[in-house]
Amino acid sequence: MVESFIYTQPVKIYFGAGKFSELAGILREFGAERCVIVCGRHFAPKAEKLMAELNEVCAVFSGVEENPQLSGIEETVRLAREVKADAVIGIGGGSAIDTAKFAAAVALGEGCALDYYKGERPFPEKRLTIIAVPTTAGTGSEVTQVSVVSNVKEKKTINNPVFMPRVAIVDPELSATVPPRTTMNTGLDAMAHALEGYWSRNHQPISDLMAIESVRLVLNNLEKAYLDGGDMDARSNMALAALLGGLAFALPKTAASHACSYPLAEDYHLPHGEACAFTLDSLVRINADARLEYLARAVGLRDCEELAERIATLKELAGLRRRLSDLGEVDMDKLVHDCAVHPLMNNNPVKLDEAKLREMFENLK
Ligand code: NAD
Repeated sequence: MVESFIYTQPVKIYFGAGKFSELAGILREFGAERCVIVCGRHFAPKAEKLMAELNEVCAVFSGVEENPQLSGIEETVRLAREVKADAVIGIGGGSAIDTAKFAAAVALGEGCALDYYKGERPFPEKRLTIIAVPTTAGTGSEVTQVSVVSNVKEKKTINNPVFMPRVAIVDPELSATVPPRTTMNTGLDAMAHALEGYWSRNHQPISDLMAIESVRLVLNNLEKAYLDGGDMDARSNMALAALLGGLAFALPKTAASHACSYPLAEDYHLPHGEACAFTLDSLVRINADARLEYLARAVGLRDCEELAERIATLKELAGLRRRLSDLGEVDMDKLVHDCAVHPLMNNNPVKLDEAKLREMFENLK
């Protein structure tokens, strides 16, 4: 018998090549009259052009960096309050979108973003409209209620409905300029979302379907997008894979690979996607069960072993770090402890305590 479940997905999604050119109409549809654009350096010139062209764009914050800092959120909040914004448009990878989401959630409240980050104030009831425009194909942040932000060295994942975007504009043309290595990192992040949503202890049938299609799309398109960034068919399929990956984990949440990604990113400075991918093939082997074998066959593979091998091959192709020796000097005790105590570890279908995690990492020596 199918177990009972609740499925909800509140984001209006516009998908397709060229969709971003419809921004003005979409802003009108949602009554957004005074917007702040949040982006990284790569999009800064286009953001300035948009501000010159569209009356609705009142300010731009283009200082978002990888692993976005609270300081960028504080600056966005300051701008939003100054121009009396009603919407924040996050354009970029997960870093820009998460900055936009957090700033929009707190701008109408009292005090500064740090108060909310520390949990010292409840999030205000009213927030600005969040419009998310991904330019990488990876995080799926455009359809999740998650914002991942850093306060100096501490990186925190905050899961709260206040971060749910109202609109996502997924235009694959925006990802044409992503460099090859970032294409691989982000593409494997999409794969990790799909697999972890699928094997999460909280998985459910609708999310499962999106996970399977996301994994199939990544397997058939990531290598092509990596080798030829101008292959718009591959870019488009990867944009869809990332969107479906986001939807696949939005409700079930992620598990062991993401739990391990935090210490790997914080202590060994791996970008988010590379950090998730570091353990992903090991975890395919550890989590292999009848359901995962079903997924492997549904995406055209022989079995879970072949799925693990395909992930390893993609990592090798892009020269991603795959062994502990690639990380420099590793404090194994701290690594296995930090992975084991991460709350997402409880979501993994196979219980992984410090001893089992040590065994997994020993095999990666
Ligand atoms: P990113 O946003 O950090 O971007 C990576 C790099 O690519 C940056 O230098 C950026 O400027 C550049 N870039 C982005 N788009 C580009 C383009 N079109 N052309 C050229 N360069 C471009 O990377 P990401 O992997 O998209 O996001 C990672 C962040 O998202 C991490 O902080 C991670 O923890 C978070 N994340 C959030 C969620 C969520 O649901 N909120 C999910 C997964 C990950």
